[in-house]
Amino acid sequence: MPNGHGFYHWLNLCLWFKKTTMPEGPSIVILKEAVSPFKGEKIIEASGNTKVLDASALAGQVIKDFKSWGKHFLICLPDFTIRIHFMLFGSYRINEHTERPARLHFQFANGELNFYACSVKVITQPLDELYDWTGDVLNPNWDAKRAIKKIKEKPALLACDALMDQQIFSGVGNIIKNEVLFRARIHPLSLVNKLPPKKLKELVTEAVNYSYDFLEWKKEFTLKKHWLAHTKQICPRDHVPFHRGNLGKTHRRSFYCPLCQVLYE
Ligand SMILES: [Zn+2]
Repeated sequence: MPNGHGFYHWLNLCLWFKKTTMPEGPSIVILKEAVSPFKGEKIIEASGNTKVLDASALAGQVIKDFKSWGKHFLICLPDFTIRIHFMLFGSYRINEHTERPARLHFQFANGELNFYACSVKVITQPLDELYDWTGDVLNPNWDAKRAIKKIKEKPALLACDALMDQQIFSGVGNIIKNEVLFRARIHPLSLVNKLPPKKLKELVTEAVNYSYDFLEWKKEFTLKKHWLAHTKQICPRDHVPFHRGNLGKTHRRSFYCPLCQVLYE
């Protein structure tokens, strides 16, 4: 995988060809809910082509819990945690499988769980030491005031990069970013330290509100239908063409209205 600028160019090419985006936090929450019948279940058999652990050795262990932190999906076992990140091409199947070899396959008495083409990592550290749960927009421990504090510590940050910063808004991805900036009428290239306090608060509030809307709409299969800015041509407020560009440090696709989204600089 290339680094720095090259990485984002490569990322955008991949996203372009795949015509989709990486899963965002709400999609991982949906996965966590979908696999809940396996919580407390014993792994009868496990396999997979992951190189980070001997999958077959997982047999006999009991799933303690499933957790998520933003885009990280966490399988909690008695002695360690398996972290799944779907990156660009990862996917999963519950109680069914594909022809492709699974990166990780779990067989339980009540069903099967399969992960494909994802990144797998073993975490031995206590999760509370590793993860700031107050930074996950969909976590009950989310702390808006702390998010504002973190933003103020990085005054040179652009609004589009702030939303994509997983240490501030864990779980926010490109769709949520575009929709939140449109809702809050903030130009993606605005400097966060130039946002009036009320606007900054609105940005933080809408990042959470939209994430919950995303979750609900995704469950109803109506997410795309509700997009107002992401991938759209015309601003529904002003009926002028949206501008688009790979903006900010993250170089991810931005769709924004030059009239109603104010540039704070
Ligand atoms: Zn507009």
